[in-house]
Amino acid sequence: MTSKNYDYDVIVIGAGPAGSCFSRIAAGAGLNVMVIDKRKEIGVPVRCGEALGLGEIIKQDLDIPKHCYSLVVDGAKIVGPNGKAIKWVAEDTRGYVLERKFFDKWLAELAVEKGATVKTYSRATEVLKDEKGKLCGVKVTHGGREPYDITAPLIVSAEGMESLMARAMGFKTVHALYDVDTCYEYEMKPYDHENLIELYFGNQIAPRGYVWIFPKADKKANVGIGIGANIANGEKRGGIKGADPKILLDEFIEKDKQLQNASSLLDFGGVISVGAPINEFVKDNAMVIGTAAKQVDPIHGGGIGMAMEAGVMAAKVAIDAHKKKDFSKNVLYPYEKEWRATTGVTAAHRLKLRKVLEKVSDDDFNHVFNSINEKDLPEIMNGKFAGPVAKILAGRPQLLAALSGLLS
Ligand SMILES: Cc1cc2nc3c(=O)[nH]c(=O)nc-3n(C[C@H](O)[C@H](O)[C@H](O)COP(=O)(O)OP(=O)(O)OC[C@H]3O[C@@H](n4cnc5c(N)ncnc54)[C@H](O)[C@@H]3O)c2cc1C
Repeated sequence: MTSKNYDYDVIVIGAGPAGSCFSRIAAGAGLNVMVIDKRKEIGVPVRCGEALGLGEIIKQDLDIPKHCYSLVVDGAKIVGPNGKAIKWVAEDTRGYVLERKFFDKWLAELAVEKGATVKTYSRATEVLKDEKGKLCGVKVTHGGREPYDITAPLIVSAEGMESLMARAMGFKTVHALYDVDTCYEYEMKPYDHENLIELYFGNQIAPRGYVWIFPKADKKANVGIGIGANIANGEKRGGIKGADPKILLDEFIEKDKQLQNASSLLDFGGVISVGAPINEFVKDNAMVIGTAAKQVDPIHGGGIGMAMEAGVMAAKVAIDAHKKKDFSKNVLYPYEKEWRATTGVTAAHRLKLRKVLEKVSDDDFNHVFNSINEKDLPEIMNGKFAGPVAKILAGRPQLLAALSGLLS
């Protein structure tokens, strides 16, 4: 039962994967949850490569409906600057290429079915504090109309990259350009594929990032590029100064035998965090989850799975806080503790890897691709760098200084 002093038990800002997964669990436990999203339609416009590991849905104990994904891929093809490809196919490399406009809406519907209320076209514009300075709600405007107040003892920011309300609550969510990738994408057709996602690396192709081709049903593909925002903003890198992701992507497409003749059905772009998570996820009466907390994989910029996972972790703690009628930072902290001890460890390994790889020249990158095989990829992605690094150094010991960051 909602405390008589408040309109709701929890206000969730953002109905992306983080906010909807939080709300499904919290509402399922009986909390009175209000979710607001500034978008007119949940999940639209799509700004995403739409790739998600199969395991992320299994972890949530959900059964994804067919209309929410385009196809299931077997694994990945990773291509170095000189065109050498490594195919990585294993039981745990299977993944969905989603239809996010349906996927995000489905996650929100699951929350509604558990009792949460979702309101679209409703933007949180200010945080509210009571006479003692305690966070107690947000000001909301529906479609830019006269703002109104809603109150709750717990405010959850699931705002994604913008994270303006999280910032207003005192969280340090501002991004350095160095820790952001700027992206451009097309949906294209026709594209024949091997049922693998394809990732292309190289300073001339995508400085401090990669080009992706994620196949979709009906010979369609999500084709995109992400590059370091610092480079897009003018920093010199690999002979490229001030690279424009759209120009680089167009150049890639022009050279690709299939894509050069394909049509584009959709243009879109966006930015994604590829740095460390924010320094605290909870404060008195407040939590930050998903990309708003910079919970994103620093290597590939994937954040859907992490957002869903953080939503569930945070909701379990919020349910406990609700039972205790205590939303203080200490009571909310177990969410942060669990994230940092689990997903946070993997994310830290990936950040280390990103920071090493971004200093490597194309020639050295080619050597890396020539030295390793698909069996090394799970080791590398899980932060077990010693074996693969030994193989790389055996052929090029002068890389020791560059790769030493992976051995510490
Ligand atoms: C170009 C690109 C490609 C990507 N490709 C992939 C990929 O292939 N795989 C993958 O896993 N990840 C990918 N990502 C990252 C992924 O999209 C995000 O990490 C994921 O959406 C995070 O989910 P979230 O719920 O935290 O935030 P979001 O999905 O961003 O949702 C946040 C929601 O909050 C709402 N909101 C924000 N501010 C307010 C406010 N003040 N009031 C009300 N509502 C508000 C927004 O409208 C939005 O709906 C990509 C990102 C980009 C930009």
